[in-house]
Amino acid sequence: MQPFEYRTPKSLKEVQQDLKQFGTDAKLVAGGTALIIMMTQRLVRPTCLISLRNVRGLSGVGEKNGALSIGGLTTHRAVETSPLVRRKLPVLAETYRHVATIRVRNMATVGGGLAHADPNQDPPPALIALGATLKASSADGSRVIPLEEFFTDYYETVLKPDEVITEISVPRLPPNSGAAYLKFLPRTADDYATVSAAAVVTLDRSKKIFSDVRIALGSVGTTPIRARDAEAVLRGQPVKAEALREAAEKAKQAVDPLSDFRGSAAYKKEMAGVFVRRALEKALEGLVRLAKATPSRPAGKRKNK
Ligand SMILES: Cc1cc2nc3c(=O)[nH]c(=O)nc-3n(C[C@H](O)[C@H](O)[C@H](O)COP(=O)(O)OP(=O)(O)OC[C@H]3O[C@@H](n4cnc5c(N)ncnc54)[C@H](O)[C@@H]3O)c2cc1C
Repeated sequence: MQPFEYRTPKSLKEVQQDLKQFGTDAKLVAGGTALIIMMTQRLVRPTCLISLRNVRGLSGVGEKNGALSIGGLTTHRAVETSPLVRRKLPVLAETYRHVATIRVRNMATVGGGLAHADPNQDPPPALIALGATLKASSADGSRVIPLEEFFTDYYETVLKPDEVITEISVPRLPPNSGAAYLKFLPRTADDYATVSAAAVVTLDRSKKIFSDVRIALGSVGTTPIRARDAEAVLRGQPVKAEALREAAEKAKQAVDPLSDFRGSAAYKKEMAGVFVRRALEKALEGLVRLAKATPSRPAGKRKNK
């Protein structure tokens, strides 16, 4: 590892000054769980590390205008165990619980995780399905970015080098809604997902029709993706198991996974469909009871009408 200067600013203003001084040679460090590995592997070689650990006002979970507001420096473990998150959006606490081990979750931060932009991470699909936004601040001001527009490629985002993620905002679910995040984890419990799927469903007042659906997947391409064609299959349609299968089929067509040690591309594509259907079923739990889909008959035994 090459020598670097280490700065420990106490305020966002000081962070911005340091970023301005060192430009693209500087790197922010929050939990350090991703950055330090990348530095030891010489994938990044900053001449200055700007630690966010002592910056006031960047941690914590609260409510703003009815939405959950999570500081960029809040740890994964703090989100997972927050009584407010558990009460208002249990799916978010559940999602952060899926990340690695308690040791990692105690260090890794919400902002650091998003800026890292590994497409196998757990929070991005759930946050995209929930319609979350993030706030990025620099000396020139701040802007709000929808999470689904944030990721551009492998480890790439729209974040500029002088921007700091200061806050994540997650809107509350409308009435008659349910949400689920599922991680397919066939190897060890602290591994990244082979495939992951998040679904948020909203039903009309009769609870018989999908009025809105949002579906997002992880580990199926170079970024997390939103499966819009799968959502369109369900929107405005009656809540039926057959419809979920059709949506799952569309989700399979939307993904483009890579083969790796977690599974072949073909296997991950198949699992993407399976996990989207299961996530939709889980999101509907407590809202409706689904009738079982009619099993398709073998071709030879089909009756002519
Ligand atoms: C063994 C292991 C297993 C893991 N398994 C999983 C898993 O299964 N699922 C999962 O989702 N995650 C997993 N993670 C965690 C994840 O991949 C990242 O390591 C973690 O989310 C990064 O958070 P951090 O705060 O440590 O970021 P850091 O390492 O401090 O920083 C990461 C990047 O973000 C930038 N950055 C940090 N904070 C900010 C900010 N506020 N604004 C702008 N840029 C910022 C840094 O400059 C750096 O480029 C795992 C990590 C480890 C070490």
